[in-house]
Amino acid sequence: MSTPPAADPISALRQDHTGQTGRALEILSTVFGYDAFRGDQAEIIEQVASGGDAVVLMPTGGGKSLCFQIPSLLRAGTGIVVSPLIALMADQVAALEGVGIRAAYLNSTLDLDQARAVEQQLLAGELDLLYMAPERLVLPRTQELLGRARLALFAIDEAHCVSQWGHDFRPDYLGLSVLAERFPEVPRIALTATATEATHRELTERLRMQEAEHFVSSFDRPNIQYRIEPKASPREQLLKLITTEHEGESGIVYCLSRKSVEQTADALVARGIPALPYHAGLDAAVRQDHQERFLRADGLIIVATIAFGMGIDKPDVRFVAHLDLPKSIEGYYQETGRAGRDGQPSTAWMAYGLGDVVSQRRFIDTGEGSELFKRNARSHLDAMLALCETVSCRRVQLLRYFGQDSQPCGNCDTCLSPPQTWDATVASQKLLSALIRLDRERGQKFGSGQVIEVLLGRENQRSTQSRHDELSVWGIGEELSEKEWRTVVRQLLARGIIEAEGDYGVLVPGPQAAPVLRSETTVELAVDRTPQRAARGGGRRAAGASRAAESLEPAQRERFEALRTWRTSVAKEKQIPPYMVFSDATLVGIVDAAPVSVAELGAVSGVGAKKLAEYGEAVLEALPGAPVS
Ligand code: ADP
Ligand code: ZN
Repeated sequence: MSTPPAADPISALRQDHTGQTGRALEILSTVFGYDAFRGDQAEIIEQVASGGDAVVLMPTGGGKSLCFQIPSLLRAGTGIVVSPLIALMADQVAALEGVGIRAAYLNSTLDLDQARAVEQQLLAGELDLLYMAPERLVLPRTQELLGRARLALFAIDEAHCVSQWGHDFRPDYLGLSVLAERFPEVPRIALTATATEATHRELTERLRMQEAEHFVSSFDRPNIQYRIEPKASPREQLLKLITTEHEGESGIVYCLSRKSVEQTADALVARGIPALPYHAGLDAAVRQDHQERFLRADGLIIVATIAFGMGIDKPDVRFVAHLDLPKSIEGYYQETGRAGRDGQPSTAWMAYGLGDVVSQRRFIDTGEGSELFKRNARSHLDAMLALCETVSCRRVQLLRYFGQDSQPCGNCDTCLSPPQTWDATVASQKLLSALIRLDRERGQKFGSGQVIEVLLGRENQRSTQSRHDELSVWGIGEELSEKEWRTVVRQLLARGIIEAEGDYGVLVPGPQAAPVLRSETTVELAVDRTPQRAARGGGRRAAGASRAAESLEPAQRERFEALRTWRTSVAKEKQIPPYMVFSDATLVGIVDAAPVSVAELGAVSGVGAKKLAEYGEAVLEALPGAPVS
């Protein structure tokens, strides 16, 4: 949190508070080493730098940070960044200091003296950016402090946390509405990677951003390959994904329960794959330690509940795997969005099965919460199921959920190998009839297991006791196997043709059942695929070879690996994550450019003035051999 030394490459830019548009570009290139703005960045920066408010909806990895960092440098005073992620603030500040920006944070990890020192820096105008959590910001003492400081702007990061409809509601965010009243002259920018219209509307209202300009980006993440496959033996499926496609790479594995987090992490470690658990049941210090190791190491896997990941901006996460069904598309998209922030090819993979549907329905039905809350939860789950069971492009469906139209993508499992479908109208009618007969003639409702036994005409204790063999539906489904029936049940649940009810997840006809029973509609279902790699042709990559380097020739790859080794040693020495030295994408850029001078190196995207001065010579030395081309 100290001011950078005398040769501060951006001090001149900081002095001058006029002629902003051109200077934004200058900062982009001098400080961050990039040569062009992406998407709406330029317009957003212009809007905020000139004193206006902005609401920014941009997918993870889209480049939200620059949208408030650059205006904070352009405007006089300090930019206040509101973020719920205390555990990450130190890293965020270190990354900014790494490019020469004067940044600090105020949170509960600082002792009184440290906090006082930061407050002094703020009042003395020595900070470009100051991070704090919302609960701190709304304290009267903080408000008073800010009242005495010169403020460039307020940036409200993860702004969807103010939305009660959404999946990440944090009550502290509601207090942020005071900023509009208390600091009407300070521009505000709210940012989120959650894009549903409901969330957008709610955050605009609650943060009092009605006067703001709204910037809604495309939510597509073309470098992420979306794949959802039936759950058979999930841990084996996961192992296969890792060993055949992502060996030696960083990834996040999401599980629903703490227990499955622990077991999955153990299973990976037992197979020699470095993995750490992360869930709310672990000691805070252990959690923090695991998070830090994940950020700092190359090629570590974190197995986590959804408690993990918000604000993690590790750019080289190559895969996100879900071993359980997420509760909503918003959550799924945020979680999968943590893959491939550097724009390099990445995988979002999920294994999902009948059990997921039944247990989540039960969880909602029997859980706490108002009727409204439950209704919301059910509609979130329904949308998620529809995504899992779609036979058309997953990306089209995802983007449509966020109100954006698109064409089939060619980079999801359903595009790469379109599922076969079959006419399951008769099978659906048989299943529905079985439910109806069991209920009417025996007063019984069952979960999928016993219903399938009846359809297959298999005797067991329960069917003998209740004389199920005397029902007209006994054994009418022998043309399908038990496994196929489970697939049918799962897909019919997802379409609302049947529903799972109550504590035991018993099956009943759903709202969409009537037209099926009357043969007014046909039911097309997908044939479950055997799990397989849907991917880009090529087989297994050499162990340890990074996917980011996939585009490189073998000789270039050697140079890439040399740079990676150099990066690891620098990161260790400085005790920062490797990507804060340079991202994979920047390393690939360096190998491609094959610079022979510091000046040439400076032209590579991601190499700014401070890093060039700091690392330039060392990078040139680390590059082995003559450039190939
Ligand atoms: P978000 O917060 O939207 O998830 P970040 O702000 O972390 O995204 O940006 C994602 C990555 O893209 C970072 O590595 C960032 O440095 C890089 N980036 C952002 N803007 C640009 C740009 N204009 N040109 C090149 N890279 C950029
Ligand atoms: Zn697709």
